[in-house]
Amino acid sequence: MSITTVGVVGAGTMGNGIAQACAVCGIQVVMVDINDAAVLRGLGTVAGSLDRLIKKDKMTPAEKDAALARIKGSTNYEDLKAAQLVIEAATENEALKLKILGQLDALLPAETVIATNTSSISITKLAAATQRADRFIGMHFFNPVPMMALVEIIRGLQTSDATHDAVAALAKTLGKTPITVKNAPGFVVNRILVPMINEAFFVLAEGLASAEDIDAGMKLGCNQPIGPLALADMVGLDVCLAVMNVYFNEFADSKYRPAPLLKEYVAAGWLGRKSGRGVYRY
Ligand code: NAD
Repeated sequence: MSITTVGVVGAGTMGNGIAQACAVCGIQVVMVDINDAAVLRGLGTVAGSLDRLIKKDKMTPAEKDAALARIKGSTNYEDLKAAQLVIEAATENEALKLKILGQLDALLPAETVIATNTSSISITKLAAATQRADRFIGMHFFNPVPMMALVEIIRGLQTSDATHDAVAALAKTLGKTPITVKNAPGFVVNRILVPMINEAFFVLAEGLASAEDIDAGMKLGCNQPIGPLALADMVGLDVCLAVMNVYFNEFADSKYRPAPLLKEYVAAGWLGRKSGRGVYRY
């Protein structure tokens, strides 16, 4: 299957990033959101991002105009019929995603592949809600999409090889490296990353080292660009806690027990950069 037009549902952080990544690689994009303001905001974000590439001499103004011309913004799902692949990147809410997938499944030609960019909802479960479970897959991009090289390609239990291969090939066309992952909570990257952050809170609570020394240790000893506690402050401590709670409940395994100190900080409203205080003060 050759993918020349990609539909994107949701023009937010991830949706507009996916639209940009496709458009700069010569792929036509239809980007849909719920109202004109959201669509225009998404298109504006792409334009701003391309302007920054021009300033860094990584793109010419003509290339920017050509990329923008490939993205059709719309509030009409009918426009998605032109796509061979539609990537759902709407708000992370299971009921909302099930509703959107039902609409897409009823509307799109039978051969169209549907992908979801969900971070936490089961791909197998979302696939089962459609009449095309073999043509349904997870495409988990990383933020900011135009910069980040990885795409986790998540196979639901029902996903066909042809669907997997088409989507992995598209990821390569976008200049990304796809990794193939079976469906499970957190997929691969967040499954390893968030428990590491959680462990850093246990280590901090045990007084083994200061926050600064824990972060310096992981940066200098493991070549990580940022320490786990500083990363928690960036991601949001509430988000880290919510993810640990998902693992704890889904796997019913005490190894995913959220660190009590992480829970205590969240209870205090110390959520990280966004609240002015997390492990560190901002
Ligand atoms: P966001 O809030 O920035 O954007 C979501 C967009 O979806 C909004 O513009 C909203 O108006 C739109 N939307 C809501 N209902 C819609 C509908 N019925 N039809 C069309 N559009 C609709 O969210 P985001 O950060 O871009 O996240 C989108 C998805 O990507 C989520 O599933 C999230 O878990 C996943 N994800 C996010 C990140 C991240 O770092 N932000 C990373 C990987 C995956």
